Amino acid sequence: MDTPLASIIRTTQPARRYPDPGKHSPAAPPSRTIVIVGAGFSGSVVATNLLRLPHKQPLRVVLVDRRPMARGVAYAERRYRYLLNVPAGRMSASSADPAEFLTFARRSLPDSMPDDFLPRELYGQYLESLLAHAALAAPPHVRLVRVRGSVIAIDRTHRSSVLQVYLHDGRRIVANTLVLALGNPPPAPLPGSEALQSSSKYVKDPWEAPPEFHSGETVLIVGTGLTMADVVLAGNEGAKGKAVIHALSRHGLVPPPQAPFRDLCDEPDGASLKQAAAISIRRLVRTVRRLSDDIELRGGDWREAIGFVRTLAPTLWSCLSPGERKRFLRHVRCYWDVHRHRLPYATWSALNELRREGNVHVIAGRLLRLELVGRHVRATWRTRGASDQTTMLVDRVINCTGPLYDARKSEERLLRSMIAQGIAVPDPLGLGLVTHEFGALMDASGRAADNIYYVGPMLRPRHWETTAVQELRTHAEQLAYHLAAANQARALHPTGPSSDVLGFSIDPTGGNALAAM
Ligand SMILES: Cc1cc2nc3c(=O)[nH]c(=O)nc-3n(C[C@H](O)[C@H](O)[C@H](O)COP(=O)(O)OP(=O)(O)OC[C@H]3O[C@@H](n4cnc5c(N)ncnc54)[C@H](O)[C@@H]3O)c2cc1C
Repeated sequence: MDTPLASIIRTTQPARRYPDPGKHSPAAPPSRTIVIVGAGFSGSVVATNLLRLPHKQPLRVVLVDRRPMARGVAYAERRYRYLLNVPAGRMSASSADPAEFLTFARRSLPDSMPDDFLPRELYGQYLESLLAHAALAAPPHVRLVRVRGSVIAIDRTHRSSVLQVYLHDGRRIVANTLVLALGNPPPAPLPGSEALQSSSKYVKDPWEAPPEFHSGETVLIVGTGLTMADVVLAGNEGAKGKAVIHALSRHGLVPPPQAPFRDLCDEPDGASLKQAAAISIRRLVRTVRRLSDDIELRGGDWREAIGFVRTLAPTLWSCLSPGERKRFLRHVRCYWDVHRHRLPYATWSALNELRREGNVHVIAGRLLRLELVGRHVRATWRTRGASDQTTMLVDRVINCTGPLYDARKSEERLLRSMIAQGIAVPDPLGLGLVTHEFGALMDASGRAADNIYYVGPMLRPRHWETTAVQELRTHAEQLAYHLAAANQARALHPTGPSSDVLGFSIDPTGGNALAAM
């Protein structure tokens, strides 16, 4: 009988021979090995913290990514100079040193101020430098190993035993602990986009290959949030303002600008928010509105109310009943998102200028279908509040609807295989994965894994707000502390399995592929 993993590997990689993990008893690594899949913000910050913490027992931290290390999607090197959406003073990867990023930025941009919106690429350099310094400063028994590649599956023969981590090219890493830091999934496909998949007229994920517009081109962007703004400004640079852009979303809401951050003089009443959440989402919305009005009456800004509610988000989320959570997702989420995820002022005003000049048109409506018609795409939508349909021929369609967190619909091979094996469980509201403390994955039988963790935006089912650096750094730090403590405890009670020489079991058909690290 095939194990589920063996059958997944067989159907997806027919040309390669893998050992049957069900029959194979993997050699354990010589020192404890923590494999982190994904070296974007979350994975890099877990690794950096692990390298900095004290360890009595030898530890190897293996960081695997299919992209360049310590960049992820958000902070990659790109042709356009995208700006961070959050001021420099709030982007530290360390909660112990809130000015860490600003200090780093001032080495190349000496005039940087805490309220400045700095280039995202610079933030990627900062993450790279944190990781490199932590690796250099770590004692000899604590090592970082970087692996370039795509993880497609894992297997654990027995619960709590060592894990085998399979890469797309046949390499296999043996791990004691696995951390999944896979980042934001791509957007959901648009209606009718299946027929356009192979066409250059449809961009299914703007971060895979950010598009450049041509002069005279008509572009339909589906989605009107932060990604839309990035795509409009970057794409429009090539078209020199001569492309016509239509941006469509159900509510047609465009994010407002950020404003200078102030600390609240008086701490608002968090207890009343918690009480309201325990009653209903309607009551909670009313209480947040009142809080915002109060702050504005005292000369403050509504953003401060949103900022305060955000700090309480995990508690408020846990107070809401399952039915009220559904109501929130259905009726309130889009308003929360648009107020919570704001644009840097420069991006907002550049976008507004394009709207004033008639280059960008924002439409509230629901996309019904896309069809390829000769050299164009025909888009059909229903405008919000109207019963008839609108049709338009465009040169290109760009999907900016944002990440599809519903793990049941994930196209990520690793996640699909873990769900098929019952190692990972999608949450029923379509927000991500079911996790326990420190992001431990809950399996299909309802047990929390003690050696498989998740960190990143798919922690939403448990905490709600888990997209940005401010929240993710806390989760990454807490997980690193937890793993370091577990490593320490195992050092005092050495019950680990015996080890092989290299610490890695590499499939012979994959060759010595770790040389590619
Ligand atoms: C364009 C953009 C801009 C943003 N700007 C900001 C901002 O200014 N401020 C802010 O606070 N937040 C911002 N965010 C939010 C962002 O989600 C977080 O800041 C953070 O970058 C998320 O980190 P992550 O590690 O979870 O995901 P990512 O940084 O996306 O990293 C995930 C990594 O996992 C790798 N990976 C995935 N699957 C596999 C696999 N199977 N095998 C190998 N590797 C794999 C990917 O290649 C990727 O490098 C932005 C997000 C985006 C998309």
